[in-house]
Amino acid sequence: MKEVRVRFAPSPTGPLHIGGVRTALYNYLFAKKNGGKMILRIEDTDQTRFVPGAEEYIVKSLDWCGIKFDESDIVGGEYGPYRQSDRKPLYKQYSDELIEKGFAYYAFDTAEELDKYRAEAEAEKKTFIYNAESRKTLRNSLTIAAEEVEKMINDGIPYTVRFKMPENYEVRMHDIIRGDIKVNTNTLDDKVLFKSDGMPTYHLANIVDDHLMKISHVIRGEEWLPSMPLHVLLYQAFGWEAPEFAHLPLLLKPDGNGKLSKRDGDRLGFPVFPLRWVDPKSGEVSSGYRESGYYSEAFINMLALLGWNPGTEQEIFSMEELIEAFSFEHCTKSGARFNVDKTKWFNHEYLLKKDKEEVGEEYLQWLEEEKGIKADRDYVVKVAGLVKDRVNFVKELWDQSFFFFEAPTTYDEVTVKKRWKENSPELMRMAKELINGIEDFSAENIEKVLNDWITSNELGMGPVMNGLRLMLVGAGKGPHIHEILELIGKEEAVKRIDKGLEVLG
Ligand code: GLU
Repeated sequence: MKEVRVRFAPSPTGPLHIGGVRTALYNYLFAKKNGGKMILRIEDTDQTRFVPGAEEYIVKSLDWCGIKFDESDIVGGEYGPYRQSDRKPLYKQYSDELIEKGFAYYAFDTAEELDKYRAEAEAEKKTFIYNAESRKTLRNSLTIAAEEVEKMINDGIPYTVRFKMPENYEVRMHDIIRGDIKVNTNTLDDKVLFKSDGMPTYHLANIVDDHLMKISHVIRGEEWLPSMPLHVLLYQAFGWEAPEFAHLPLLLKPDGNGKLSKRDGDRLGFPVFPLRWVDPKSGEVSSGYRESGYYSEAFINMLALLGWNPGTEQEIFSMEELIEAFSFEHCTKSGARFNVDKTKWFNHEYLLKKDKEEVGEEYLQWLEEEKGIKADRDYVVKVAGLVKDRVNFVKELWDQSFFFFEAPTTYDEVTVKKRWKENSPELMRMAKELINGIEDFSAENIEKVLNDWITSNELGMGPVMNGLRLMLVGAGKGPHIHEILELIGKEEAVKRIDKGLEVLG
């Protein structure tokens, strides 16, 4: 295989959707697997769609994901500039070359004229297409005499350059994921390659840059498959060797009905963007995976398996393992359905793998930021150790452990109804005395003392433990009673029992 050079080529028209992140990821995995280079190219030739902050957002998102570039506007490289607007002077010669060779032509039809043709066609329930048929009657260098064309250009009459799509020609193509594809050019239109604003369109800039940047494999979303015949014909027209193509399957909505769109996320209750995004115009906020508490490793692991599988049962992969395992053979042709629960499951698995120290540190920070609680580090680490396996996210630890940081002020009604019996007050008074007298206040010893006391007095494990849980937690949840006791300490435990007795009687 020749040197692998792939590119991720986003247009900065908004935040990067998770489908885009997956495209970047597969490019990265393929490049690294094959000892190749990963390039970031910003495709910003459509100035009307420019969104401030989008490029920075894309760069930050990919950085958070651990997708690194060998060449980009930031890290530099031999084939720069890597932003198409900075390459503007470069494209016109290629547009000129196509005209000279007869593969493209000047079109002088104004936007108003084209709108009129579209409206007329629509009135007849047809679609206006600029193609081999219609171009014969439109205002372009194929219908206007050469001297006149030259004069119009010299007079500064605005024009676009269109690709002269050959008539009734079978374009034969190969896609690594989809296999052989044939398309008849009669189904295609004469796409604009160069615009009246002096900028190339996506199609021309993309092909020229892929060629100049020596891209070996074009790996991109399925939505670009319809552009492939034009791209292949452009390579032929220039006489350049085309790269190989791999069009990745779409990411589908959870119910499988249609493409997962930018709008879906917050509507369906999960983020579709890696990072939070605030729309610069409307101020509308879209949630991000990072801010929702996902680990980037879990997010990447989940994304990798949407459209690719390792061919084994393994589900948990580090980036290194993904690189090792990745190949297009195990990429699917059909769309991959997004699964919210599975996404959370991945985060849970990554949380499980972390030790209590690491999760504790994260929780310590969360407590301070979200609750204004400045807790002792070792204490929080112990708490994290007790409850971390029960949650998917660090932010969910609070619900499982708030009682380690504050005494209950209310008592869950359902639990009280079910567990607070007539003899409960008496049992709690006795338990308080017992607890107050325990010298060695380690969980292990507390458990032993409590158990001995319960069995020798035949008090029943349930009634005592359920009562204590209500007193200490205020609800029917939480880790073992002796572990809670050890951590909150004797004095606090006694206070909570007194308070509970006062409230519940
Ligand atoms: N600029 C295109 C995009 O926004 C790139 C498509 C391609 O990779 O060719 O997705």
